[in-house]
Amino acid sequence: MNAVDADVDDLVLDSWLSLSLFTYADYFSAFSTIYQHVCCKCTKSYKYKWNLLRHLKYECGVAPQFICKLCHKAFTQKSSLKSHVAYVHGYQLTIK
Ligand SMILES: [Zn+2]
Ligand SMILES: [Zn+2]
Repeated sequence: MNAVDADVDDLVLDSWLSLSLFTYADYFSAFSTIYQHVCCKCTKSYKYKWNLLRHLKYECGVAPQFICKLCHKAFTQKSSLKSHVAYVHGYQLTIK
């Protein structure tokens, strides 16, 4: 059974590569978008790698950097602070 499976995989890969538009890199990047990107610290998972990178840089193990001046609630993301101010305090905040 293993030999048959391998033959099928090779066939699929060969037919993919025979479309000269595609390279090995395309082949693997097409599949990597399906994989979840999982944070090694808190096991949160993201569909896209850049979301995981953003999470690692701004969220995971990082002290909240954006503080509401009105109630001193802390947020890890500027967009969260903005929506908090708009929703809780009822006006748009311009953050420089
Ligand atoms: Zn994390
Ligand atoms: Zn607030």
